[in-house]
Amino acid sequence: MTTETAGDKIDGATILARSLKQQGVDYMFGVVGFPISQFASALQREGITYTGMRNEQAASYAAQAAGYLTGRPQGCCVVSGPGVIHALAGLANAESNRWPMILIGGASATYHNGMGAFQEENQVQIASLVSKYAHAVEDAARIPFYVEQAVRNSLHGRPGASYLDLPDDILNEEIDASRVVTAATVSDPPRPSVPQADIDAALAAVKSANNPLVIVGKGMAWARAEHEVRDFIDRTRLPYLATPMGKGVIPDDHELSTAAARTYALQNADLIVLLGARLNWILHFGLPPRFNPDVRVVQLDIAAEEIGRNVPAEVALVGDGKAVMTQVLQALDDDPWQYPEESTWRTGLASGAEENIAITEAMMADDTSPMNYQRVLKDIRDTMPADAITVSEGANTMDIGRTILENHHARTRLDAGTYGTMGVGMGFAIAAAVTNPGKRVVAVEGDAAFGFSGMEVETMVRYNLPITTIIINNNGIGGGPSTLDPDRPPPPSAMLPNAHYEKVIDAFGGQSFFVDQPKELLPALTAANEGDGPALINIAINPRAQRKPQQFQWHTGRAD
Ligand code: ADP
Repeated sequence: MTTETAGDKIDGATILARSLKQQGVDYMFGVVGFPISQFASALQREGITYTGMRNEQAASYAAQAAGYLTGRPQGCCVVSGPGVIHALAGLANAESNRWPMILIGGASATYHNGMGAFQEENQVQIASLVSKYAHAVEDAARIPFYVEQAVRNSLHGRPGASYLDLPDDILNEEIDASRVVTAATVSDPPRPSVPQADIDAALAAVKSANNPLVIVGKGMAWARAEHEVRDFIDRTRLPYLATPMGKGVIPDDHELSTAAARTYALQNADLIVLLGARLNWILHFGLPPRFNPDVRVVQLDIAAEEIGRNVPAEVALVGDGKAVMTQVLQALDDDPWQYPEESTWRTGLASGAEENIAITEAMMADDTSPMNYQRVLKDIRDTMPADAITVSEGANTMDIGRTILENHHARTRLDAGTYGTMGVGMGFAIAAAVTNPGKRVVAVEGDAAFGFSGMEVETMVRYNLPITTIIINNNGIGGGPSTLDPDRPPPPSAMLPNAHYEKVIDAFGGQSFFVDQPKELLPALTAANEGDGPALINIAINPRAQRKPQQFQWHTGRAD
């Protein structure tokens, strides 16, 4: 902004694009129209990668996945009124996952406020319910100020969503360049460490436990703490469990992973070291029957308000995951310690794992047709490039997939997440591909989940993104009928039986595959992953296929 000379004119759209670029917003996803079309062109002129999507919801999901993957908030821009309303789904999802993103909402002109203008809506008020920061811009000259606020709020402290409202007259107004305010560039997030006494207390608590368990959440992936967490596990030899998106912070094939004995591990741990994960529904609130009623908690989180939620923490480490784990490692340098190699805890975990692995292996080896989930997922796992980014959504598809598909690197799994949102997959996959050139993205979708944003396949083909979309098709939500009875309305859970979803990508010229026999799986998966563009594989499975028998419902009921 400072390079402009007096008398130069600049429009709001250009000021906004330059401000975003200055703040490290390198990717924008959106759907153009009134009043943001000019702004989208300005983004491209300023060197921001713009991806035009088919629906604002998918665009807002893409922006937050891009933020999580790049470490800076990335953006979504949408038209006024209904465009903003559609994108609210993304704001709420980002808030719930504690991921950064910036939503730029076009708005009707300020001079039409209250007059019933085209797509007029009280956008700031609505967005403020599902974001960390929401504000309208009232003067083009102050755009850099608001962008700095939006980025800082989104990125610093607990990450979250920001909303900026850009009325038509401000976005498209030309002002004297000398009037434009300057704003500081927001730094990467501060990395607070904790008092040494807290580190000592945490390690003393761990050493005093008989059955310690480390739980690694996606907060550690966001904190880029993978090297420190891996080092901690390797040096202490503590058993650990990754949450769904904590997978990959330590490679899933690590010998100390207790993933295959999850139920046993949670029920019998007498102390958990909770690293960047919340005791919400994903971890069954930390309560019985899934947890030991007397479980002790050592909790690391950047957000002080998360400490002690549902279960009081014996030791609180309120700080940044990477900084605090570095402190822990330094303490271990001074006073090395390892959990014993032989203990009843390790033996119990090993036998719990063996039992589960045996059941799953048998299901994976089942070559009958129509196939079950485990058979399909085995071949997906075996053909997945080691550094692929995986996206997963759907009920059984996601739950069973989590136990079979492996992640070897941090931030390589994106799924329905804390909010349990179905429909995120296509937006997430597009974001993963756009922000990681050269990597393959493999999106494993239930047929119902795919349906929420299936038209984004056109976006994938238009940008020639290396995404393999795999639909595990069981004809509905949680499984549908094999045929529809013409004399009855379709059951609520049914989708059209035997739908050929692969023809969606055919319509745009992408690679398509239909598979209903086990022997066809490997060739289709290999060909799809070897191509340089998008491919879609529709796999018809047994509509009655289910998870292996579970001791508990996925959704923990009341403790009493
Ligand atoms: P998961 O779904 O993997 O269990 P959650 O989203 O529930 O993970 O929890 C992630 C936690 O990580 C949040 O409570 C968030 O405040 C925390 N967090 C975010 N950034 C950091 C950071 N830099 N260091 C430590 N914790 C962080």
